[in-house]
Amino acid sequence: MADDLRTDLLIGGTWREAVDGDRMEVHDPATEEVIATVASAGSVDARAAAETAAEAQPGWAATAPRERAEVLRRAWALMTERADDLAALITRENGKVRAEARGEVAYAAEFLRWFSEEAVRLSGEVTTAPAGTNRILVLRQPVGVAYLVTPWNFPAAMATRKIGPALAAGCSVVLKPASLTPLTALAIGGILQEAGVPDGVVNVVPGRSASTVTAAVLEHPAVRKLSFTGSTGVGKLLLEQAARRVLKTSMELGGNAPFIVLADADLDAAVEGAMLAKMRHNGETCTAANRFYVEAPVAEDFTRRLAEAMGRVRMGHGLDEGVGLGPLVDAATRDKVRDLVDAAVGHGAHPVVGGTPGEGPGFWYPATVLEGVAPDSPILAEEIFGPVAPIVAVADAEEAVAQANDTPLGLVSYLFTGDLRRGLALAERLEAGMVGLNRGLVSDPAAPFGGVKESGLGREGGHEGLLDYTEAKYVATEW
Ligand code: NAP
Repeated sequence: MADDLRTDLLIGGTWREAVDGDRMEVHDPATEEVIATVASAGSVDARAAAETAAEAQPGWAATAPRERAEVLRRAWALMTERADDLAALITRENGKVRAEARGEVAYAAEFLRWFSEEAVRLSGEVTTAPAGTNRILVLRQPVGVAYLVTPWNFPAAMATRKIGPALAAGCSVVLKPASLTPLTALAIGGILQEAGVPDGVVNVVPGRSASTVTAAVLEHPAVRKLSFTGSTGVGKLLLEQAARRVLKTSMELGGNAPFIVLADADLDAAVEGAMLAKMRHNGETCTAANRFYVEAPVAEDFTRRLAEAMGRVRMGHGLDEGVGLGPLVDAATRDKVRDLVDAAVGHGAHPVVGGTPGEGPGFWYPATVLEGVAPDSPILAEEIFGPVAPIVAVADAEEAVAQANDTPLGLVSYLFTGDLRRGLALAERLEAGMVGLNRGLVSDPAAPFGGVKESGLGREGGHEGLLDYTEAKYVATEW
């Protein structure tokens, strides 16, 4: 690993050991080898991070928006300059292949550039009260200290998607990255420091006990916002905790994305979109296509073409040339994928390609296509988080939409059709925060990312992403 690897806590501009925690190991999921040990915060460290963020917040809020913007812009430039090193770090701790990791760094850096541009475009409004007696002034003010909790699947992008808008709005932050992938978040902390973020404005506290760190940060009176990306189960727990102090919350939670292919779709485009929606980051994304509903007349053709494309993907260490699929992040993730596939096969599904886990060391599961999946198979109801495409043939678009909406989750839906007018009408009926219409990728820093139903609250990215770190203040004014 590089000599300048950051492995300590970043609190108040200082890199330091945990005071009441210890150190935790980080592993390469391709080899299961320990690649680093990282300071693991305890509650004293977490409180110290919240306190230093609280001290730094008023000064940062008072800093000119242009200056805040320029810090973010410098951080974007530094991330872009160091893209290769950061990508290698992501591959080492997360497993995704180098090209995907490069893509993530570009995506992650772009949030910093986008929000550097948004920082100077935060406007309020002035209107005349309907009674004509006074003016209604609405100001947008930073919400205060924000506590950010991120998952392992995008260790860079989930951090910058929160830090970018928080800093642009004038909030200071405490970031708790996933314990499987703390190295990338610490590296980003270092980059922000180099870019000129004042001490205490960005604090990074990995910790093996997420609940200990979270409880200590959330009880600090200056913390006014919780932004979480992760599973719906943990999101619900955190909403309960946030309710105790009536915190403003953003929740980016799990998905169960349907991928609908209608008979009039361009099948080449649908397969290309499916490969992107399914295989991006080993299938370990909240936006991963989780269930394929294909109109019966094209189901066999689509299945064959997708299986051919999936069968061509080479599995191996993400740093090796020509590899398109890395290891899954840990044994639990691999075992979940294996169990879901085995249960689907037990219910009558047939693996057209793949279907058997690889040998260790490393957590391997090959690209897999399942046909003939029974409607009550658990694989259609749970997030697979692996490179498996279960295919269900449906009679028509009505059945596809009904099945697609038959879930408590609603992050993203994909729809492929040759008739754009019909596609837009169906997109309106899909219960999801986002729809990929003839497109297998929706993520874009300039767009409002987020889910409906149990997939979340609030939006990240776009202009909405900035507003989620502000409060509206109304001043009733006479002049
Ligand atoms: P997770 O288990 O919910 O963990 C996410 C984060 O929460 C980690 O930092 C974790 O820390 C922390 N955490 C876990 N239990 C906690 C607790 N009791 N109190 C406070 N914090 C706690 O999710 P994951 O497995 O890392 O990520 C996969 C999930 O994230 C999937 O469901 C995926 O769909 C979702 N996701 C959603 C989006 C989106 O934008 N909607 C994006 C990416 C991922 P530790 O690592 O230390 O346990």
